[in-house]
Amino acid sequence: MLIEGKVAIITGASRGLGYACADRFVREGAKVILADVQDELGEHSADKLRATGGDAQYVRCDVTQKADVQKLIDFAVETHGRVDCAIANAGIVHVSDALELEEEDFDKVIAVNLKGVFLTGQLAARQMIRQEPDENGSKGTIINMSSANAVLAIPEIAPYVISKGGVMQWTKVLGIRLAQEGVRVNAIGPGSIATEMFQNVASDKDKYRAIMSRTPMGRPGEPDEIGKIAVFLASDMSSYITGQTIYPDGGRMGLNYTVPVKEA
Ligand code: NAP
Repeated sequence: MLIEGKVAIITGASRGLGYACADRFVREGAKVILADVQDELGEHSADKLRATGGDAQYVRCDVTQKADVQKLIDFAVETHGRVDCAIANAGIVHVSDALELEEEDFDKVIAVNLKGVFLTGQLAARQMIRQEPDENGSKGTIINMSSANAVLAIPEIAPYVISKGGVMQWTKVLGIRLAQEGVRVNAIGPGSIATEMFQNVASDKDKYRAIMSRTPMGRPGEPDEIGKIAVFLASDMSSYITGQTIYPDGGRMGLNYTVPVKEA
């Protein structure tokens, strides 16, 4: 087990990629605290993990609220004594043409996807640098959920694209700031992964075909394929990596033009 006994907080973990990370972390022996605004689902998800023998709890945390994020970290410290890993995963999408986009919709996406990731990282980092290092000299790891849209653009989801570009840069900023503090900071920038968020975006056949024409591996990723990268980034296996974004995208970012799509 790569992260046995490690304490992880994961935002947006009631479902989707956050839950997939929690599930993989528990299977690797970590203690997880799931945080979300979907309380019923979050409690249910923590129950599911406990039913497998995992150490999992749910805490309500709206990542746009500094006091909520601090409470989440305090809960982890009161319960387990420290925070070894913080996964800033909570994110939302708003679909609108860039020229029609309302100011409040822009603000809402930026608040969750960018300010929320900033608050989670800043407050987790303050806790981590106060902690004793583990046997490998690590005081903690921070993992931000970015997107292939950090570097590729879709004009119908402008604030999402902008927020993920910001997350990529924040990952560098915090990674460099903490490079000599025993805390590593990295990001995961998924392509299309089969979660509810993806099903909503790819709900019609033409959209799905368009996405697959930009996906050389010819399939969406599985949520656990993100969870496994999170384990790698949280573990000593990635001990010399900081400030980086890893892109699990089925080959999309290497592709110019499109690839043929197999009929479903
Ligand atoms: P998801 O299934 O929609 O799950 C996200 C969870 O975060 C939901 O439970 C959501 O609750 C919650 N959330 C929303 N606002 C929050 C807030 N203010 N505080 C705390 N939690 C909040 O999404 P997902 O597909 O797992 O995506 C997770 C992350 O991966 C996001 O950052 C997303 O941008 C990124 N990502 C996903 C894909 C993909 O293909 N799925 C690709 C690239 C990047 P609500 O239901 O109330 O919104």
